Amino acid sequence: MVSEKTAADMFSLLSDESRVGILRAVAVAQSEQALSNSGFAPLSFSDIYERVAIDNTSKLSYHLGELTGTYLRKTEDGYVFTHAGEQIIRFILAQNFRRPPDIDSIETEGMCLFCGETQLEAGLDDQYFIVQCPSCEQPVTGYIVTPAQARAHSGPALLESLKRKQAAEFGLVQDGICPECGGVIRTEILDASEQSLPDEVPVSYFAIEECEACLRRYSGPLTYCVAFRPAAIAFYWDHGVNILGTGWWELHRYLRDGRWSAEQVATDPVEYRVELRYEDAVLRVFLDGDARTMRTERVRGRNFD
Ligand SMILES: [Zn+2]
Ligand SMILES: [Zn+2]
Repeated sequence: MVSEKTAADMFSLLSDESRVGILRAVAVAQSEQALSNSGFAPLSFSDIYERVAIDNTSKLSYHLGELTGTYLRKTEDGYVFTHAGEQIIRFILAQNFRRPPDIDSIETEGMCLFCGETQLEAGLDDQYFIVQCPSCEQPVTGYIVTPAQARAHSGPALLESLKRKQAAEFGLVQDGICPECGGVIRTEILDASEQSLPDEVPVSYFAIEECEACLRRYSGPLTYCVAFRPAAIAFYWDHGVNILGTGWWELHRYLRDGRWSAEQVATDPVEYRVELRYEDAVLRVFLDGDARTMRTERVRGRNFD
């Protein structure tokens, strides 16, 4: 019986620059392969030997033996990555283990949920992208940014990239899929009146969405969960608004002026109604107690613009 490696065993296998070099060489060789329907072709021992700075075949054979089973898989035709190999080499190639660059604060328009200020400042705080309110000094919103993303873009282009990445990931979360690991996301709805929030924050329900496997957590107003689902994306798209290109700090105005709202409409079983408005058009989305969409409807209502 083959015993499973522990995480510590797995990382100790990489405490050798030659082995990292082998994984890097396999990734580069794969990227140079022609497109094929069946994924990447395995790399033979001699293909790898030509690409690495290891001066004899017995050393390469030893290192390949150590990597095989954890980071590489050996097939009849050669070596391919395992999932762990793929993940770790992409992390290394993107240099996401290095600190993100220092960036100057970026001015951006949006709305502070606490005081209504519209001129905000975005910046990085270690692994987080943060939008701050210069008036009341509260954090308006924050999200994880990778060092590679922060190096790849600057100024307004960085903001656009962050918005798109967050929107795509949050959309997956709304389908119950963890963007980090593919595990199951569970949603819990919290009544804002039972949380210690300032009175001026116009949120009635929050959703806490957490991955059962990797514990990655997403949280925000319940209305935002609905905003990143297909019915809302289509509703706003029909009115010329691209929700997938809108940052949370820009969405806050919809909460402050009452255009977006959520209320509990039944208790047994629990049901919530979220309303998103555009001019006199209203999208109503009904959710069960796990925040799953039960049904949606478009109606006409009071004009908010
Ligand atoms: Zn403020
Ligand atoms: Zn996960």
